[in-house]
Amino acid sequence: TANGARPGRRRRIGVMGGTFDPIHHGHLVAASEVQSSYDLDEVVFVPTGQPWQKSGREVSPAEHRYLMTVIATAANPRFWVSRVDIDRGGPTYTVDTLRDLRTAMPDAELYFITGADALAGIFGWRGHEQLFELAHFVGCTRPGYEMDDAALAAIPSDRVAMLEIPALAISSTDCRDRQRAGQPVWYLVPDGVVQYITKHGLYADLARTDPPTL
Ligand code: ATP
Ligand code: MG
Repeated sequence: TANGARPGRRRRIGVMGGTFDPIHHGHLVAASEVQSSYDLDEVVFVPTGQPWQKSGREVSPAEHRYLMTVIATAANPRFWVSRVDIDRGGPTYTVDTLRDLRTAMPDAELYFITGADALAGIFGWRGHEQLFELAHFVGCTRPGYEMDDAALAAIPSDRVAMLEIPALAISSTDCRDRQRAGQPVWYLVPDGVVQYITKHGLYADLARTDPPTL
């Protein structure tokens, strides 16, 4: 079927974890490339709770990051957004994300999608011993980041694959800096996300607003 389950094959679900502050076209192209290369049935975007690796800066409220991710992915029938990390509360560890998704979808094969930069730090992730039992890992090469060969060599080769995606030198950091400096973020992030950022005064420092209460 066009978008449904295929008989005789386990469902393949991509898992794209991120802070998404804001989500940008680099994230979306990476997810789309992995979806197509690995013939994934769906990709679930999972915005982090309070990100433990980003304690050096203030991260936008989770509801803002969640809603921007929903706006950015809404038109793609294979893309979904999960609240597991946000609703769990506390810092997000990938091992918890994968365990929760495994519980929700016990029959699915999970493919964790991550930038090669983040993959290089995998042995610093909590519960890394169990990570490879829970999911395959797909490391996306990303312009400006060099893969640490030693770190890659330590990863079980049957559980990790590298995928070169079209070079998109976009980062959330750059989008925030541009917004703060009054430079355009149009075409770096989806149109609806530009409008959401403006509407809520995100990344303006002085004009910070509270997340919507629904
Ligand atoms: P920040 O600049 O705040 O760190 P970011 O752009 O790295 O933000 P994250 O939310 O940290 O975005 O990234 C989520 C995942 O997407 C990570 O695995 C990251 O490596 C990957 N990623 C981010 N930007 C790109 C890109 N342009 N191409 C491929 N992968 C990317
Ligand atoms: Mg990052």
